[in-house]
Amino acid sequence: MKMTVLVPAAGSGTRMGGNRKKQFLLLGGKPVLAHTLKRFEDMPEVQEIIPIVPEDELELTLLHCVECEGLKKVRRLIPGGQQRQDSVYNGLKAVAKGTDYVMVHDGVRPFIKHELISLLLAAASGCDGAILAVPVKDTLKEVGKDNMVKRTLDRRVCYQVQTPQVFRFQVLMDAFKKAYAEGYYGTDEASLVERAGGKVAVVNGSYGNIKITTPEDMVLAEALLLREAKVNASMKREEHPG
Ligand code: C5P
Repeated sequence: MKMTVLVPAAGSGTRMGGNRKKQFLLLGGKPVLAHTLKRFEDMPEVQEIIPIVPEDELELTLLHCVECEGLKKVRRLIPGGQQRQDSVYNGLKAVAKGTDYVMVHDGVRPFIKHELISLLLAAASGCDGAILAVPVKDTLKEVGKDNMVKRTLDRRVCYQVQTPQVFRFQVLMDAFKKAYAEGYYGTDEASLVERAGGKVAVVNGSYGNIKITTPEDMVLAEALLLREAKVNASMKREEHPG
C-alpha cells in the first residue's frame, strides 16, 4: 500500500496575532511545522510527505523544518493557495501516480500519534475514507447574525472533527474536481467526499491532538510537549533500569 501525507501549512494565521505565522512559531525551540512533519517521517505506513506552505516561506521551510530535521520523506514543497481547500488541491495534484491513499493533516497539529494512524487506515479500508473526531464537551448553539440564539443542537450526536483525514486517492481527487466544478468550498476534505456520495468512517480522535490556532493553544502545546518528554524519559528508564 502506498500512502502520501499532504500537510497544508499555508495559512496566514490571523487568529494568532503577532508577526510570525503560527506554523512557524517556535515550540520547544523548533517550528511547530517541523514537529508535525517529523511525526510522519517516523511512521512506516508513510512513503512521502508533501508540505504545502506559503510561497514566500518555501526557503525557510526547507531550512528549518526539513533539512534541520533530516527528513527523507519530504522530496518537494508545494506553494499554498488562497483557501485551505486550494492549498490541499495544489498538493493533491502533485501526488505520484499509483498512490493508493492520501492522508491530509494540518501543519499546526503537532501532537498526532502513530496509534491513531493505524486505526484510521483500518477504518478506511472498508469504505472511501476515515476521519478523526472527538465528542464535543460544551453545549452547541446555532446563533443568528443578530447575536440571538436560533436553536440548541443535540450534543450527543455532535463531534469536533480533527485531522488526519484519509481517503483513497482517486475518491479524493474526484471529490475535489466535483467541488470545484460546482463552486463548493469546504473546511475539511471529508465534506467534499460526503457531498460526492462517499462513505466516511469516524474514528475516536484525541483531545491532545490540538490545532494551534490562538495564543492560548501555544501555552497548552508547551505543556503537552513537556508531558510527552516526561513520559518518554520514564519509558526509557523502564527499558534501561539503572
Ligand atoms: O484555517 P485553519 O486554521 O483551519 O487551517 C488549518 C491548516 O490549513 C493550517 O495548517 C493552515 O496553515 C492551513 N491552510 C493552508 N492554506 C490556507 C489556509 C490554511 O494550507 N490558505
